[in-house]
Formats: sequence, structure tokens, C-alpha cells
Amino acid sequence: MFDLRVRKFGDPILREKAKWVEKITSEERDLLFCMARIMAENEGVGLAAPQLGINKRIIIADTGKSLLKLINPQILEREGEDLLSEGCLSLPEVFVPVNRASKIKIEGLNENKKIINLTIEGFLARIIQHEIDHLNGVLIIDYASPERKEKIKNNLEKIANHTRMILKVKEKRKYQRKI
Ligand SMILES: [Zn+2]
Repeated sequence: MFDLRVRKFGDPILREKAKWVEKITSEERDLLFCMARIMAENEGVGLAAPQLGINKRIIIADTGKSLLKLINPQILEREGEDLLSEGCLSLPEVFVPVNRASKIKIEGLNENKKIINLTIEGFLARIIQHEIDHLNGVLIIDYASPERKEKIKNNLEKIANHTRMILKVKEKRKYQRKI
């Protein structure tokens, strides 16, 4: 079904613009189910489909009480701002202070094709903005100041090298399967 690794920095899929979901089928529902499991396994609070190598506009977020699943999420309004250090499952041990809107109005679809309209604030609003960034190929490191970039440089290189190694092994396996 899906190749369910959390893709790390250096994997080109993290820089792609994810595709709009035209039709919600059992495939999307299966993906949402897998995303929830992988997010929990990795102790994350949010996950976007491209982080699993799936080029679709689908995100999930832990609201603290339940799991918010959104297909084709859009931010309709932004209000206020808030600066906080953020991490990312695709960038282990990298933290970057990111300025985000403190309150947002969003719209999207749930897995049953129902339109979801929500006004959210605080940490959940931050998670949603972070995950929507993933759908646009944007990562927290893009918000880093030159000083912060210098500090995380070695760490990023380490992650990217590791990703390159994994991608090479995957490529080799693909080739081996063909012959
Ligand atoms: Zn992330």
C-alpha cells in the first residue's frame, strides 16, 4: 500500500507542492488512518501527507482532545502573531523560532466529504499552519535567521546525508526487483 516512512530533510518530496485531492475515496481514508498511527508512534502533534511521501493535500493534528483530519485545508483568515520555537518530525533535533498567526479561520473537508469550518487559536493554530506549510513545500528552516541557520547547519547536513543514503538504498532495491 504505502511506503510508510517519515520522510526527512533532503527528500525532494518535502519541497514539492502537494496536489489538491479531487476525490475522497477509501485510499484517502486509509492514508488518514496510517497518518494517525505514524504520528502517534513518533509522538508528534501533527503530520502532513508529504511527510509520508504522499503528494496530497491532507493533514492531521492532535487537538489535545481528538484528532483533526483535514483534506484540502485552507486558511481563510489570520489574526495576531505569536513567536515560538518549533520542531518537525522531518527535521529531528532541529528547532527554529517561527512567527505565526495566533488565530486562524480554516476550511477543509473531513474524510466523509463534510466541509469543516473552524476558528482556532494557540498551539493548535500553530500546528495547522505548520502542516499547511508542508503542503506547500515549506519547512521551519525557511524561517530561520542567518544566525540560526549557522547553528543548525551541521545538523541539517547530517540529516540530509542520512536521507541520501536511504534514497540510494531504495533506488537499488527498486532496480533489483526489476531483474
Ligand atoms: Zn513538520
